[in-house]
Amino acid sequence: MMRLPKFLYRVPRTIQDAVKIMAEAGPTGQFVAGGTDLYPNMKRRQQTPRTVISVMKLPELNQISGDPSSGLRIGASVTLTDICEHPVIREAYPVVASAARTISTPILRNMGTIGGNLLLDTRCNYYDQNYEWRKGINFCLKKDGDVCWVAPGSTKCWAVQSSDLVPVMVAIGAKLRFVSSLGERVVDAAGLYNDDGIDYLHKRADEMLVDIQLPPINGWRASYRKLRRRGAFDFPVLGVAAFVETAKSGMIERARIVLGGIAPSPLTVHEAARELIGHSLDPERIQAAAEAAYVKARPLDNTDFVYSWRKQMAKQYTLRALTDLMPAS
Ligand SMILES: Cc1cc2nc3c(=O)[nH]c(=O)nc-3n(C[C@H](O)[C@H](O)[C@H](O)COP(=O)(O)OP(=O)(O)OC[C@H]3O[C@@H](n4cnc5c(N)ncnc54)[C@H](O)[C@@H]3O)c2cc1C
Ligand code: SF4
Repeated sequence: MMRLPKFLYRVPRTIQDAVKIMAEAGPTGQFVAGGTDLYPNMKRRQQTPRTVISVMKLPELNQISGDPSSGLRIGASVTLTDICEHPVIREAYPVVASAARTISTPILRNMGTIGGNLLLDTRCNYYDQNYEWRKGINFCLKKDGDVCWVAPGSTKCWAVQSSDLVPVMVAIGAKLRFVSSLGERVVDAAGLYNDDGIDYLHKRADEMLVDIQLPPINGWRASYRKLRRRGAFDFPVLGVAAFVETAKSGMIERARIVLGGIAPSPLTVHEAARELIGHSLDPERIQAAAEAAYVKARPLDNTDFVYSWRKQMAKQYTLRALTDLMPAS
């Protein structure tokens, strides 16, 4: 049985206290929400904080406010189950509810939060193992070792960004608000992720995610398609989020295709968007955009399924995600 290491557990009741405790804890402090990612990682000694600071009792992080015409604010500690069941999210932002519904199992969705999902550790077959297994291969670059077993000549870790909501938030242009003892900042979801499996977030460890701001609904639609072995439980080994905004004429004015689950950061395929902008969404344009996604997708051999097949699936899943957005005839 894997046991948690000893740590100090703090449960602040205000944001001010939470960031103060984090500032005092220094580099050995870490926030926790539902703990469905952090605690297994601690049991495997992949992450070893000495002070763990819960964000679950902070009222501001547990609220959903706003409306679809001005934009919705979702607190970082709102659980995935609450996201799936919230009537406004289901009605106005169905892509967010449906992507959340694909995450893990009902029990884990009752614990796991939107904030934890957006800040999930990157994953790799050589890393998501217990301590003894990793010791058996002399560890790897991401933790305790000096070789990358996926790309032995590489000085970079290729562990994969494996959250279902990340590609969706990047595609729809969500904004994330962080607070620390040094102040507050708001970043575009697209700017948060770094293409490095170790240093995967453009964020300091002491910054706490407070909320996620969804953009107003003004003519855009989005969809998400997820590839995994089992229809429940499994992490994505490819996720495609598609976003289009159409003018009254029916022509696409803005588009984004974002691939998750294939690289250390979500991959925005600008070439795919270019195939769509200025056209109506028809099978020919969808095919061209899917081809562009296929060209850009370069999954590595560090998750489930053969990576060359996952590359082919990038085309198929882009086709499906965009077809979901075709106007009903
Ligand atoms: C069996 C299993 C299957 C899973 N399947 C999926 C899946 O299919 N898709 C998927 O996307 N995920 C999956 N997960 C991962 C995880 O359950 C979810 O991503 C969940 O949403 C994580 O949320 P959490 O609140 O539990 O995060 P936590 O474990 O509490 O935190 C995750 C990370 O975020 C940081 N953090 C959390 N909240 C804050 C905050 N407010 N400010 C700053 N840092 C913060 C923590 O320090 C930690 O680094 C799975 C996990 C398991 C165990
Ligand atoms: S990609 Fe390489 S360095 Fe990163 S976790 Fe996997 S084996 Fe380790």
